Amino acid sequence: MELEAYLKKCNIKVTKGRLNILEILLNSEDAVSVDYIYEQCKSRGLSIDLSTVYRTMEILESKGIIDKFNLGEGKFNYRIKKEVHKHTLECSLCHKEVEIDCPMVQIEQIIKNRTGFTLMEHDLKIKGICEDCKKHK
Ligand SMILES: [Zn+2]
Ligand SMILES: [Zn+2]
Repeated sequence: MELEAYLKKCNIKVTKGRLNILEILLNSEDAVSVDYIYEQCKSRGLSIDLSTVYRTMEILESKGIIDKFNLGEGKFNYRIKKEVHKHTLECSLCHKEVEIDCPMVQIEQIIKNRTGFTLMEHDLKIKGICEDCKKHK
């Protein structure tokens, strides 16, 4: 089984619960909550408790398989890690450029959770001064 091999490759002990959780995550387009995963596991007839789901999410996150999004108010969503586009930061003084992972990924999740809106595109203007310029000012 493919998922089983994948878990092994990531040095994660294969259990029925973990295989199912990984499959549920792979089947979800959007980031999902632990409660959702728990419900899905139960509807699959799996005997698993909530703390096991939480622990599995921690393991998957620590192995870099999933992303965890803080939605505020103690709520978190999880999603299989996706390739994220980059934004370029340019120093206003020396014009040095630095690439960063899109910081909007987290915000997208928060907006979706609060309003139901799915962001299709965004325009980000970031201005700042690099560390070197700050030092030599
Ligand atoms: Zn600079
Ligand atoms: Zn972006």
